[in-house]
Amino acid sequence: MSAIGSSKELSDIDRDVQSARELALLGQYEQASVFYEGVIKLIQKNVQSCPEPRARDKWLTMRQNLTVELQNVKNIVRILESMHMDGGKGGNRRFEEYHEDRGAGDYDDYRNDPDVFGPQQPPFARVQRPPANRRSNIPAEKPVSKPVVPKSNNAAANRVAQARINAAGAANQKASPNQPAKGKAAPPESKAAPQGAAGGKDRDKVPVKAEDKPFEPSGYDKDLIELLQRDILMRNLNIHWSDIAGNADAKRLLDEAVVLPMWMPNFFTGIRRPWKGVLMVGPPGTGKTLLAKAVATECGTTFFNVSSATMTSKWRGESEKLVRLLFEMARYYAPSTIFIDEIDSLCSKRGSESEHESSRRVKSELLTQMDGVDSGNEPGKMVMVLGATNFPWDIDEALRRRLEKRIYIPLPDKEGRRQLLEICLKDIKLAPDVSLDAIADMLDGYSGADINNVCRDAAMMAMRRRISGLNAEEIKRLDPEEVDLPTTHEDFQIALKKVSRSVSNDDLKRYEDWMKEYGST
Ligand code: ADP
Repeated sequence: MSAIGSSKELSDIDRDVQSARELALLGQYEQASVFYEGVIKLIQKNVQSCPEPRARDKWLTMRQNLTVELQNVKNIVRILESMHMDGGKGGNRRFEEYHEDRGAGDYDDYRNDPDVFGPQQPPFARVQRPPANRRSNIPAEKPVSKPVVPKSNNAAANRVAQARINAAGAANQKASPNQPAKGKAAPPESKAAPQGAAGGKDRDKVPVKAEDKPFEPSGYDKDLIELLQRDILMRNLNIHWSDIAGNADAKRLLDEAVVLPMWMPNFFTGIRRPWKGVLMVGPPGTGKTLLAKAVATECGTTFFNVSSATMTSKWRGESEKLVRLLFEMARYYAPSTIFIDEIDSLCSKRGSESEHESSRRVKSELLTQMDGVDSGNEPGKMVMVLGATNFPWDIDEALRRRLEKRIYIPLPDKEGRRQLLEICLKDIKLAPDVSLDAIADMLDGYSGADINNVCRDAAMMAMRRRISGLNAEEIKRLDPEEVDLPTTHEDFQIALKKVSRSVSNDDLKRYEDWMKEYGST
């Protein structure tokens, strides 16, 4: 392993791995994540310059293991957060139960059921399926490797931390006890269960809104519905415009394109009809996802957060069904915002090298569904599609046409960077020598996510110094005030050296050129 990095870097890595695990052991998952992310980046940076294949392999394995541990820590945070969520799940339960109770009938039967959609429901267009003759661009599902504990000075603490993290990983897998194993259909008896019977008392506790019409997604696997509810349907986002630094133009455009039509549906008709879809374009980490969540919060809409990874990797062959169900569900919970992150990978150019039969079907289904989203007809039943991409030039032309409004989300300017620093550091003690203006200048060319990383790293420096050399027991005994020391200007300088900007000038030029050709202002 000594083939890469200076001895200082190696001891930094060793120390940070130890800190990450100890913090995870102490239940300080946020801080643990920062250490994990930092050390993974450090390994990644060094691994590229490692000339020795065997040493390189070892580092790659270590990075992989740490990534799994980080994922487990994040899973714990997710589980904890989900335990705090409120009863918004009532709607989810009803949706799922209703499906269960009805059994998986024929899709068209359900579409024709006037009790569900009423007599006005337009027929669904059938998808044209082009021939299969291309290579797949859909990544196979990665096997999850078992985390391995690299050697460290504090073996005992590491072992305990490791056991905790592994246990949390296992707990997370058990977190959805009702979910059948991947690829398996739900057991038939669960479908036949009468409403309110299966699941016992808990089911009776589900709040039922009087205005809710039962939704009947017959013809879908229970797995698909669960996937949507667990990974895609998001509630209680609580992200407001004010949580997003800068981006004044983008906020104004989104307000006009998405928020106002939801508020004043009767005005946005005819020539003023809302856009079929809105595309946010820009470098990674500039706040596109945050903006989408703010749109949903400001509009009070149900938010479906779709990433192409969820759509394609887990559900090969069924992804188009998932797209259909997604839009069904969005209509059911309308007004809704369907946010499709990395929409380019769901809808790459037709006929491109990487296009695969199943991805074509997904694409066709998405286009069909978007054509069906004629939100202007039914105020209050709006479904708005909001896409985001870091690679707009890869987007299929047919989809680009449907994403009529295209908004650029640039790197933050000086004012945006300063605002972001204020947001990131609002709960952090700063030493008197810290000038946010000066730091905003130093961060020129950094994305919002880069700035966030710099702040997180800088904010951890004092704590790192304080716990350096202490074992888990000693760390546990520390008073919280002892580690919550002010962050200094030098801490930012050190953090800045560790986190480099992630967007190059060439990339920026490419975005600007694309926006000149296809963008809206
Ligand atoms: P994108 O979707 O453009 O890749 P995200 O919205 O996922 O970027 O941003 C990643 C993280 O970076 C966010 O969680 C947030 O912490 C930070 N961030 C980026 N831009 C901003 C911004 N303008 N205001 C506040 N936070 C931001």
